[in-house]
Parts: sequence; structure tokens; C-alpha cells
Amino acid sequence: MPPQHRSPSWHTAELELIRRIRLRTSRSVDVILGIGDDCALLRPRPGEEIAVTTDLSIDGRHFRLGWHPPESVGHRTLARGLSDLAAMGARPLAAFVSLSLPRELVRTSTRARSSRAGSKSGPWIQRFYDGLLALATQCKTPLAGGDLAESPLALADIVLVGAVPRGHALLRSAARPGDHIYVTGALGGSAAGLAKLAEISKSKTRPPLGLPAKWAPLLQPHLYPHPRLAQGQWLRRHKIAVAIDLSDGLSTDLAHICEESNVAAELTASAIPIAIGATLEQALHGGEDYELLFTARPAQRVPRSIAGVPITQIGRILPPQHRSHPITMLMSDGAQPLAPQGWQHFA
Ligand SMILES: [Mg+2]
Repeated sequence: MPPQHRSPSWHTAELELIRRIRLRTSRSVDVILGIGDDCALLRPRPGEEIAVTTDLSIDGRHFRLGWHPPESVGHRTLARGLSDLAAMGARPLAAFVSLSLPRELVRTSTRARSSRAGSKSGPWIQRFYDGLLALATQCKTPLAGGDLAESPLALADIVLVGAVPRGHALLRSAARPGDHIYVTGALGGSAAGLAKLAEISKSKTRPPLGLPAKWAPLLQPHLYPHPRLAQGQWLRRHKIAVAIDLSDGLSTDLAHICEESNVAAELTASAIPIAIGATLEQALHGGEDYELLFTARPAQRVPRSIAGVPITQIGRILPPQHRSHPITMLMSDGAQPLAPQGWQHFA
């Protein structure tokens, strides 16, 4: 933003914020130069390719200021990008986050606006970075730059840069008939958590200072999803060729693999791992679980768990069939086509 469009107080807040964030960013051998110069300098290892992904998070579309604690918005913003790197089998090199925020989110305490049980007060933006940097540290992903601007709409734009050995990225386009289909973890937890969050946020009995602690386990998959980086890298190292992260929902993301690989797929309804508190419907169509969906040749050995996360076989890849209905669901009462019905945020 040109300096003439910034008020002195905003500019001071921005400089102070950058100073504080810089103190909190972790060091990494991949980042030669981080926050503080015109560009960051990254140095991948010899023989690596660079993976880049970008994602927008917008108030009212991907989160709600009145529903989501700021720490969760920060966590989810980074988790979305990291999950894309996980789906390629890449390791993160650096993250860049740009924020456009209404003035009051940078300056004032948002205690009464939204917070979770036991959380701190402080400006919304500070708590956003608390959530984002906690996950960044956990996933060894340095924050190497970004931008901040004032705007009536709260919006976060994340860019993730990763590295993967040349020619070995996991792709959507390499599934073949006969492959087995697997997922990590359990599905539907995010949709179930969001439904509960909506219920709590709309209820008149919601405590003013946070979300009731008793709901934390149900809300966790939605508010603080964990990107499957270790699992993605394990798959790549073990010559698995195909993966996608479940951001839009199983029915939609599996259709992406079918489309890109020119194949069809068959799912066994009873095999799908459903998260606690979720329904089959939410497991099939609820997005934002950020689990990995992958396929492997029948002869490939796939363990029951990878880095502590259960792996479940849920179906198989078939030769191409009807283009409009690539996925068939095997139910107890017969087979039926499964239409992609990815989660529509707040639709
Ligand atoms: Mg993705």
C-alpha cells in the first residue's frame, strides 16, 4: 500500500507488528533471508523442485469473525496451505501471509467479540498470529514475509512454498484401474464441528468470553485441523504416486482424481471412517477435513497407520465410465452413483 494511503497510527501499528512477528519467526536452513528485505531468499536442496500453493480465507466465506476464535483463523489459514504441500509429498520451505483487516481488528481487544475458553485477550491480529505461528513452529515452517493493509473486509491470503525431489511429487493424474483407494484419519469431523459451532454461536446462552470447553473435542477438527505433512512425505518416499488433500469433501476431491486420471471409482460406504459426532453425509461431502486421499497399486504394501494416523482402504479405482458420474457407492442395499457435493461454506 502506498504510504499516502496509510494513517500514521496504522503505519506505526504495522511496523510494530512486523517487528514483533520477526522476533517470533523460527530460523531455517532453507530460508537464507527472511522478513526484513525486499524479498525473501529461499535455497532448496540440489535435485529438488519447488511446490507453490496459495489460498484465500475470507470473513463470511471461509470463517466468521463472530464464530471463529482469531487463533483458529490463523491456524486454519496456514493449515490450508500446508495441507496442499502434504498432498504433493512436499516439505515446507516457507510461508507468506498477507492480511487485509478492518482497523478495529488491528488495534482493539476483541475479548467480547470472539474467543475460546481460557484464551488470552489482545488485538485480533495478535491472536491470529498466535494461532498461525504455533502451527508454523509445529510444522517447522518459517514465516518469511507478507503484507498488511486496512480494508472493510477481513481477508487472509497465504502462500506456501515447499520442496520435493525432482519428478517425485504426488499427483492427481496417475491413478490406474485396479488401484486401491485409501484415506488418512477420519472424515466429517470438520463439518460436524462447524455445525456445532454454528449452533453455539447462534444460541443466546453462549458465554460472552468463549466457546464452552465441553465442546472442544467436537470443535477441534474444524477449528484446529492438522495437515498431514508426515503422511504425505511417507507416501512419496514409498513410491505412492497419487494423492489429494480433502479440502472440498471426499465426493468432490475423489472426482478430481477421476477427472485428472481419466478413471472411475467405487467406494464402500461401510468402510469409510467417520469422525466421532459426524454423519456419513458429512464424511462424504463435508470439506475441510484436510486428510489425505491416495491410491496405491494392489501389490503395494500400505500400513494400518502412518506416523500415528490410521489408514483405511475405502474403495478401488475402475476403468473410465460415465463422465458425469465417475463415482459409485456400494451401500448395504446396492450400488448408486455418488454426485460430487463439496461443502459450500455458509451457503
Ligand atoms: Mg489441495
